Amino acid sequence: MGLLKGKTAIVTGAARGIGKSIAIRFAQEGCNVAFTDLSYNEVAQATEKELAAYGVTAKGYASDASNFEGTQVVVDQIVADFGQVDILVNNAGITKDTLLMRMTEDQWDAVINVNLKSVFNFTKAVQKTMLKQRSGSIINMSSVVGVSGNAGQANYAASKAGMIGFTKSIAKELGSRGIRSNAIAPGFIITEMTGALSEDVKKDWESKIPLKRGGTPDDVANICVFLGSELSAYVTGQTIHACGGMNM
Ligand code: NAD
Repeated sequence: MGLLKGKTAIVTGAARGIGKSIAIRFAQEGCNVAFTDLSYNEVAQATEKELAAYGVTAKGYASDASNFEGTQVVVDQIVADFGQVDILVNNAGITKDTLLMRMTEDQWDAVINVNLKSVFNFTKAVQKTMLKQRSGSIINMSSVVGVSGNAGQANYAASKAGMIGFTKSIAKELGSRGIRSNAIAPGFIITEMTGALSEDVKKDWESKIPLKRGGTPDDVANICVFLGSELSAYVTGQTIHACGGMNM
């Protein structure tokens, strides 16, 4: 179709899961894709091959998104390799769920650093390139939990709510330079992570969703295509919920 033809995207945490689906949908739309994950292993190499099969330039990079200096280095490398960055998808994320009573400082710090500090790291690192281009679309993968909170996920919810505040602030700071910043709040998306839940838990979730099904990674990836393309030229500072109506 080519909605993203000629553009270059960075997608973090994209060797598998939702990030991988975003990278594939982008490649299908003609977008060159630089993706990161913790290691450049067989999984990442297979993803790279799958992307390249769409006839775009695709390259995987080993990067811990929570590391400030490391992020600057990898983004410099991506800019050197691709020459431009039009779309940044801050997708890398982890959970370390437990009640506050049992939550350790390490569980708090890990989730805040991987989910929220990473967004600061990558957005700051691509800012110079997007300012020079006078255009860019930043997409932050938040969660319905960041909007509504969830028992047993205080660290995760805080990180995802923080992403929404960051998204709005950057939209206000950089809007005049043609740079847009939006968040997506997925609900219950069926991935390797959620696929491991018991049938009972899944049924219970689905019964509470107006559309009566869990979401697919492509349901989320399609919103990224919209936000990364000119179709969303007048949309910034928003949080788009992809949750089958679970959150309204
Ligand atoms: P996933 O665990 O399948 O994939 C996450 C990817 O991020 C993995 O490849 C992992 O190796 C990578 N990663 C982890 N830590 C990293 C780091 N420090 N640096 C770089 N990469 C790192 O998870 P997913 O379900 O695909 O989730 C993707 C995003 O969507 C996350 O931010 C998650 O919070 C969010 N989300 C998921 C759901 C859901 O239902 N699955 C719902 C709402 C939001």
